[in-house]
Amino acid sequence: MVHSANLGYPRIGRGREWKKALEQFWAGQLGEDELHAQLKTIRLGHLRKQQEAGIESIPVGDFTYYDHVLDTAVMFGLIPERFGVHDGDAADLSLYYALARGNQAAAACEMTKWFNTNYHYIVPELNELTPRLTRNRLTEAYREAKDELGIDGRPVLLGLYTFLKLSKGYAESETDQWIDALLPLYAQVLRELEAEGADWVQIDEPVLCTTLSEADYGRLQRIYGVIRQEAPGVRILLQTYFEAVDGYEAVAALPVHGIGLDFVHDGGRNLEAVLKFGFPADKVLGAGIVDGRGIWRSDLEGKLGTLERISERVDADRLIVQPSCSLLHVPVSAEQETGLDDVLRGALAFADEKLGEVALLARGIRERGSESEAVREALEASRRKRQALQQSPSRSRSEALQGIADLATQPFARASSFASRRETQQARWQLPLLPTTTIGSFPQTAEVRSARHQWRKGALSEQQYVGFIQEQIKRWIDIQTDLGLDVLVHGEFERTDMVEFFGEKLAGFAFTANGWVQSYGSRCVKPPIIFGDVELDTPMTVEETVYAQSLTELPVKGMLTGPITILNWSFVRDDLSREEVAYQIALALRKEVEALEAAGIGMIQVDEPAIREGLPLKREQWPHYLNWAVRAFRLATATVKDETQIHTHMCYSEFNEIIDAISALDADVISIETSRSHGELIASFENKTYDKGIGLGVYDIHSPRIPAVGEMEAMIDRALRVLAPEQFWINPDCGLKTRREEETVLALRNMVEATKSARAKYAVQANA
Ligand code: GLN
Ligand code: ZN
Repeated sequence: MVHSANLGYPRIGRGREWKKALEQFWAGQLGEDELHAQLKTIRLGHLRKQQEAGIESIPVGDFTYYDHVLDTAVMFGLIPERFGVHDGDAADLSLYYALARGNQAAAACEMTKWFNTNYHYIVPELNELTPRLTRNRLTEAYREAKDELGIDGRPVLLGLYTFLKLSKGYAESETDQWIDALLPLYAQVLRELEAEGADWVQIDEPVLCTTLSEADYGRLQRIYGVIRQEAPGVRILLQTYFEAVDGYEAVAALPVHGIGLDFVHDGGRNLEAVLKFGFPADKVLGAGIVDGRGIWRSDLEGKLGTLERISERVDADRLIVQPSCSLLHVPVSAEQETGLDDVLRGALAFADEKLGEVALLARGIRERGSESEAVREALEASRRKRQALQQSPSRSRSEALQGIADLATQPFARASSFASRRETQQARWQLPLLPTTTIGSFPQTAEVRSARHQWRKGALSEQQYVGFIQEQIKRWIDIQTDLGLDVLVHGEFERTDMVEFFGEKLAGFAFTANGWVQSYGSRCVKPPIIFGDVELDTPMTVEETVYAQSLTELPVKGMLTGPITILNWSFVRDDLSREEVAYQIALALRKEVEALEAAGIGMIQVDEPAIREGLPLKREQWPHYLNWAVRAFRLATATVKDETQIHTHMCYSEFNEIIDAISALDADVISIETSRSHGELIASFENKTYDKGIGLGVYDIHSPRIPAVGEMEAMIDRALRVLAPEQFWINPDCGLKTRREEETVLALRNMVEATKSARAKYAVQANA
């Protein structure tokens, strides 16, 4: 009989009580016992909720005190040496949180993105360590669910191969040694689970959805062969997600009892493979059919159709209905979003609603052909809610639709080549050699945040708030002028973050009250929802920018967030392709760009810090994504005059692989965050010929440390070994909103000093 499962549940809690407990503990406001007690209440509450939703296989052990990858490292005693001598007690919370957050003596472990999501995990450092099992978290979790709630849970374990691929501190050639070292520990964990009575264990191996080599498949075969032999009593569901598996036949043949596949984010390829090659008769198929990443109600009829096709190849008692991945990536409950329009709220499905969908689909497919009244009604109710949004006049806007319909005739290229624009722009601006600028934001002080808060509450009138913002702008225009910077910014004091500010002003966006998703540790984000066609009705940034420009003869850069960043940091409607939504945003931004230009703003920066993170998991899909991402940027910026200078900014240094796409943006000037891996990035310019204006950040804004003049001179020298002085800009490596005012001013003063001496040096060379 088809049954239902879940793969993981959000930890943060409906009112972010998990986050609050952690932060109170860190602040010393909550004792260790209280923390354990509060988290236990949260954890059990989540299990109960899944049970009540009718989920038959409920994950246990997916809950964490910070991050599940860190949990795995700690479970295997992989504690970097800099954390000193300790008894390796995995229950030692101060050690656990020191790994994640650093302490006086040791810097925190690195944190990086979990595949193509916005969740960040702690990167395990293997180095010379010897792994051992410190404590079996999974037996504890399994026992707790059973004892407290009578739930026979499905323990979730991060797979050995994925764990290794995510770890650092070992050479590729040591992979097999590490497999040998970890295999007995995995086997032991599984044997203990078996002894505890666990029947199925979910082992997550999302690396199976990346591009793997023959050697990788060979290793996976070996790992699961050994596990099966060493722990024959538990059944393994090998879980994949976020994409199709490339080597379907190799994966299906792995010596495990079940395979979980993503039928939502696979581009249809997993389904195709199942239909073409069939599915092993001795295995269970976990069909990830409800989108674990998006926030929309499923098209349940469509899903049932897919399940029906799958069941042509898989017996009913070997089919499990489940989400496409852990529900970690969606907010907890749409029910509490009472501030949203009813039609929009009705079309949302967050984690709790998705559990209901999974249970309903399992029942629906069991009863297929002779559905009970209850199932028919539930399907119909869901269909109506989706349709209501689909047909809602609030969703469609004619101008946006027309823009997309006319895409073929839209300009995607500037009128002149970069070489000729450069001359026109230089004639207009007369910038010195090595012009100095900043990335856009200046310190968002408590005062700035409080003023915004007061204004939102209505305690500050619109007029008072505008006055306050203008004061800040004026103060910082003066500071920038005193410092001697060449290209100024207004400082972004009116913005909370890079997307919300624009989303609130554009048509097609909605904001939840509690749509939080864990980003890293206790840090959560609340992405806006793009539910309708995106359009610009009134200018968004013209007022502040024009005000700033009115105070100075020096150029002030207009400052916008680019279409791909807005897209990648939002929840996006599922009835249009992401590409189309990106073009809609681009067209709205183009209006803003044109409005700025018409108001006399001659330099406009369109930030795209999120282009890189949108890269698909599979390399072969990169060109397609990069192609439309570049087109969207160009659509937003191509119509300005030659003399208007388009800037862009990106926040990463792994730039080498996408340098051609970045050059294709055709921005006149780009600034990139590089100070943390300077040498590496600069090397990437050695054989490439990047000819446009470029600023490689000369200091790291993420640290409160004031960089010395000499350090920045060295950075400049290094960059100018491969880049021409005529194309080089001097700037910090990112926005300054998280820094304090004193730090900012001192650091920028040193930056200007460093520039002066570099100018003296390179002007001589340029004339020689
Ligand atoms: N203009 C933005 C700022 O300075 C850019 C931020 C970013 O790159 N993430 O804050
Ligand atoms: Zn940045």
